[in-house]
Amino acid sequence: MTPIQMVDLQKQYTHIKTDVDAAIHSVLDSCAFINGKPVQDFAVNLAGYLDVKHVIPCANGTDALQIALMALGLQPGDEVITPSFTYIATTEVIALLRLKPVFVEVDPKTFCIDPAAIEKAITGKTKAIVPVHLYGQTANMEEIMKIAGKHNLFVVEDNAQAIGADFTFSDGTKKKSGTIGTIGCTSFFPSKNLGCYGDGGAIFTNDDKLAVQLKMIANHGQSVKYYHDVVGCNSRLDTLQAAILNVKLKKLDEYIAARQKAAQYYTKAFAGNEKIATPFIPSYTNHVFHQYTLVLERVDRNGLNTFLAEHNIPSMIYYPVPAHRQKMFASFGGNNFNLPVTDWLTQRVISLPIHTELEEEQLAFIASKVLEYINK
Ligand SMILES: *Cc1c(COP(=O)(O)O)cnc(C)c1O
Repeated sequence: MTPIQMVDLQKQYTHIKTDVDAAIHSVLDSCAFINGKPVQDFAVNLAGYLDVKHVIPCANGTDALQIALMALGLQPGDEVITPSFTYIATTEVIALLRLKPVFVEVDPKTFCIDPAAIEKAITGKTKAIVPVHLYGQTANMEEIMKIAGKHNLFVVEDNAQAIGADFTFSDGTKKKSGTIGTIGCTSFFPSKNLGCYGDGGAIFTNDDKLAVQLKMIANHGQSVKYYHDVVGCNSRLDTLQAAILNVKLKKLDEYIAARQKAAQYYTKAFAGNEKIATPFIPSYTNHVFHQYTLVLERVDRNGLNTFLAEHNIPSMIYYPVPAHRQKMFASFGGNNFNLPVTDWLTQRVISLPIHTELEEEQLAFIASKVLEYINK
């Protein structure tokens, strides 16, 4: 059996090596390393895939979130509602811009921000909501957009884990995850569902004016070369990475299907076990399984993690400490937030290997070892 990894990028590369190598070599031949043609091509290709008007490539997913918030014209102290159960980048950029992160609960089943909790957290200073489409499924964007509309709030979607996921509104219309709010953000970190071979990110919007603003901020606030209208930053998607992404974007749907197939295998294997809650998929979205995450009841989660490691099966805890309990947020009053669902999840979740290259033999071995420990 091939050694099991959380993500097997090496094996994935062997299947696309010819195309990726050719794409890289054409960039080397052109020597257009900064803002080369593949970058513009990728922006067009991704906009087509997502059915969104504007895609602004940038250096990484964290920058995407930061630039998105910078474009909204918020003032220091303005409140931004976001889940605490997320990767640190989401909440970090809020604090970095001297905005006030207001941490709210997630739904214990979907792990995504709870719309009812958003509504309760709104004050006169609230300006934006940053939902996170955690593990690969979209938060309840229909409810979130209703609340945002009612209170005149911006919505910045953190879509780093759910690129390619579909959201279905109650009238049946479908949109791609990340294209529903004011601005959507994603990351092309290598292990993401659409990953490059270094750092990369992108911002999406259907708003023409915001698109101009976002582009300008990502490029030193520059409107015309050497004329800088606003304080911006330097955040570019590397041409080499864009060339790789043009190859990999064509495979994204296939990659999602492979992840879903692996997930179905696990879910079937764990079905009916009372100690394991397998991923819950609400009717409004599908799941692109950036992670396959279990919630364990009456099981020593860290014990399982160690047991699996002893059998050369990696597993991960995403995330062991919620944002509001990070030292980083002590001065933002992080400890004053009371988020029992978030605390409970950080004690209970465990993610199993999930990627595009998992073989049935590996899945069977992983599932059997999980069950062996759980049923002990
Ligand atoms: C990966 C990730 C980011 C940040 O992306 P980088 O490209 O690493 O900066 C932000 N939010 C979430 C939820 C992520 O998973």
